[in-house]
Amino acid sequence: MRHELVAHEPGAQQSRSRCEPGHRRSFLRFVPSFILRTTLADEREGPRAGLHPWFSHPISFSPPSSLPPKDEHYSRLFTDPANPDAPHPSLASLLPYLPDPVSFDAFLSDLEHNLVSHPSSHVGEIGLDRAFRIPNPPHVVADKANPKNSDLATPLAHQLRIVEAQVDLAIRLGRNISLHSVRAPKETVDMLQGFKDSKGDGWRRLHVCLHSFGGSPESAKQIQKGASRSRPLSSSSSPSPRGTASLTHRSPAAHPNTFFSFATIISGRSPHFHALLRAIEPDRLLVESDYSHTREIDNQLWDVFEEVQLARGWDADETVRRLEDNFRRFVTPLDERPPPKKSNREKKAERRREDMYVSDENEEEDDGPGDEEARART
Ligand SMILES: [Zn+2]
Repeated sequence: MRHELVAHEPGAQQSRSRCEPGHRRSFLRFVPSFILRTTLADEREGPRAGLHPWFSHPISFSPPSSLPPKDEHYSRLFTDPANPDAPHPSLASLLPYLPDPVSFDAFLSDLEHNLVSHPSSHVGEIGLDRAFRIPNPPHVVADKANPKNSDLATPLAHQLRIVEAQVDLAIRLGRNISLHSVRAPKETVDMLQGFKDSKGDGWRRLHVCLHSFGGSPESAKQIQKGASRSRPLSSSSSPSPRGTASLTHRSPAAHPNTFFSFATIISGRSPHFHALLRAIEPDRLLVESDYSHTREIDNQLWDVFEEVQLARGWDADETVRRLEDNFRRFVTPLDERPPPKKSNREKKAERRREDMYVSDENEEEDDGPGDEEARART
């Protein structure tokens, strides 16, 4: 991966020569953290706990005392695309290899117990994944001619319900979130918007890391700055369903509580990787390994550190300083953070609540910087 990226980047070797061994030590010094070492639970910065969307299929929303039998649970979850009342045709062969249903209530109380037992822990990875398919059983995969994965996909509504309950727990306990999102840019933007609209300051106080962010530069800008009403909502990698391609009904607001984290092993595959790195506001940028072999983690982090330098034109010292500052801000305890920033629209809504005599003329929804000024003139 590193060599492919170097080959794409003219001048890469020159830029790399600025990296001295001291930079590597300096950069890796602040690495042991939940967000950077995604496979480690380091007690100094806090482990993570949460249900990843890849493992959400055994979850049943029935109470623990009335969990459905396994075949019933999975028949309802994996339905035939041609007939939603029938089980998916592939289910029968996979059913014996699927885990028994797990009560979501029981899972959440275990999760809460684990989070409370580790006061510096965070919630994650949780999120949405439209690419994941349930793996085929070992005896099927043993024949190399067979695909690794089946065609069973956990429905997004099921994933979303699990994410939201874990977000509610994160809010209640005041924990940051690491959010996984694969091939679901529109759903992720809508979900962030929904949380912002419905969960108020509890959500805004949290820091949310969009880990291994795989959206387009445009979708990153939308999340950071909000979007004008006429702009398309989703990235080009996932066209919106018909009828929702433009923001005619509501205008996604900015999400000042989000950070964007990148790993070369995932985001580096994109030909737009550097454009994406440049689309991130400097104080929201994080890096990570997103790698499962612990011995490779430092090298993976070093790779993405170098890519950040190349993309942003920062030298090694500046890159270390910025990434470290961002990381430390991300993990700052909630009670030491400044209050969440409010957009002009939110300030205006508050003023409307305070002043019942505000005229309808002032109720347009734009978040434009001129709103404050306009109000000052009236
Ligand atoms: Zn992930």
